[in-house]
Amino acid sequence: MQALHRRPHCGAAGLSAVPRRGHAVVVGGSLAGMLAARVLSDHFDRVTLLERDRFSETPAARKGLPQGRHAHGLLERGRRALERFLPGLTGELVRAGAEPLDFTRDFAWMSPCGWYVRFPGDLLLLGCTRDLIDWGVRGRVAALPNVRIQQGANVAGLIRGPGGARVAGVWLRSRAADDEVDYLGAELAADLVVVADGRNSRLPDWLTALGYEVPGETVINSFQGYASRLYRSPPEFASDWKGLYIQQAPPDDPRGGIVVPVEGGRWLVSLLGGDGDYPPTDEAGFLAFARSLRSPALYEAIAAAEPLTPIAGHRATENRLRHYERLGRFPDGVVAVGDAVCAFNPVYAQGMTAAALGAEVLDRWLREESSHRGPGRGRVFQRHLARATAAAWQLSAGADYGFRTTQGPPQGRLARLTGCYIAGVMRAATRRPWVRRRLEEVLHLLRPPSALFGPGVLARLAWDRLAGKFGAASRRGGPAREGTEAVGDRRDGVELSPEWTIEEGSRA
Ligand SMILES: Cc1cc2nc3c(=O)[nH]c(=O)nc-3n(C[C@H](O)[C@H](O)[C@H](O)COP(=O)(O)OP(=O)(O)OC[C@H]3O[C@@H](n4cnc5c(N)ncnc54)[C@H](O)[C@@H]3O)c2cc1C
Repeated sequence: MQALHRRPHCGAAGLSAVPRRGHAVVVGGSLAGMLAARVLSDHFDRVTLLERDRFSETPAARKGLPQGRHAHGLLERGRRALERFLPGLTGELVRAGAEPLDFTRDFAWMSPCGWYVRFPGDLLLLGCTRDLIDWGVRGRVAALPNVRIQQGANVAGLIRGPGGARVAGVWLRSRAADDEVDYLGAELAADLVVVADGRNSRLPDWLTALGYEVPGETVINSFQGYASRLYRSPPEFASDWKGLYIQQAPPDDPRGGIVVPVEGGRWLVSLLGGDGDYPPTDEAGFLAFARSLRSPALYEAIAAAEPLTPIAGHRATENRLRHYERLGRFPDGVVAVGDAVCAFNPVYAQGMTAAALGAEVLDRWLREESSHRGPGRGRVFQRHLARATAAAWQLSAGADYGFRTTQGPPQGRLARLTGCYIAGVMRAATRRPWVRRRLEEVLHLLRPPSALFGPGVLARLAWDRLAGKFGAASRRGGPAREGTEAVGDRRDGVELSPEWTIEEGSRA
């Protein structure tokens, strides 16, 4: 790769509504990095994405994405954002083997309060591996004429711009001796550097090296572990569900598991354990853990299925929020996105959607940047990003306090009361399609958590209380063998019309 040494400039910022700028560099080629590159391609003449791994031509696991072996659900809010930046992606993934699932009908979900009522709805969940999603997104981004993806490029630090108040690019070191190109010491100048290097981000160290403060962190850890394996889904297996989720029920039962149908006629099965009750990665231990779940449905399913891979484990799962938005001094010319800023306990499936929200914020910020005069523009971006991901953080971090051993800042009384109220909402969602629908809209980040306190939910909870049903969970909605009615009735005021069609991609 050519090392570029040209004077950084700020383009013609300020002269037109959406000025084009010179060169942007993205550090990290996972979802947050790829989506950032997609956005930057609209605003910069050239975009270079630097990824230290090497990508495969096909959807395949790679070292820099160890979580790819575990079940990944893309929330509806995130899927819609991806469609906005990459129209038709949903259809492409389906043609490549992803199974489109009607989330409230096809997924049997055992909440801590019982099985959620099921009904045909309009929330789409793609049944596929994480590697397929990344492959689809990467293919589209790589095809953009002004985006260049450099693999095997390990970024080692930031270059200080003149005067030290801004970043002027990155410098690299080679990852392995067998790399075709030696990046050691190469410098790459950029008008903007977007850091998307994941949960173990080195940005705090890079800022320190330039004389800046390290951001404060909020860490909330409920000590979750994953163990996952692919199975061939048995064609003779008769059930009315396509996906199955036995949610953890803390504090009494920190164990859970999920079965997701993925491309190639396979199931991706992930077992989850909180409070340090990590699911084992040996054959006997994995099966025993599956058997110990609150419902036998998952164990019965995998007992009938053929394992295709070894069992993979994962334990880096704490909620970690780096408060760049609070720094007194933050250089211009650099911003951070994705897990590098806000990483979640993955059981709530928010990380990819948060990455997509970050891409939306980046797009807006770049469109409006001409109106932010003077230094501090990077901090403005980090403030916008913190606001955009606040609801996801609230849901994830709040739920984790239900586990016995959770470590983090003390929780207030209001938050504890909110937890009790949410339990009431979950119980109502085992009976009432309308309440389940509203709950899903919040969990899929389509509505803010405050929507759970709206008059529709309150009225239904009050009605149930009067009718003596408050606190009682329905027994319907669970997995049923073929021929048994498991889908709830529709007499709860839910009017649905799907917002998606696979052939056209999404109409969200
Ligand atoms: C077990 C598990 C399950 C999960 N399940 C879900 C789910 O169901 N739904 C969901 O939405 N999210 C889920 N997530 C979260 C999701 O994986 C991440 O939020 C998502 O990958 C976005 O992260 P990112 O792009 O910011 O960082 P990452 O995915 O961590 O990628 C960082 C990239 O940067 C590269 N890199 C790092 N350092 C350098 C460097 N110095 N130079 C060049 N490149 C570098 C890495 O190789 C990597 O490719 C899960 C996570 C885990 C751990």
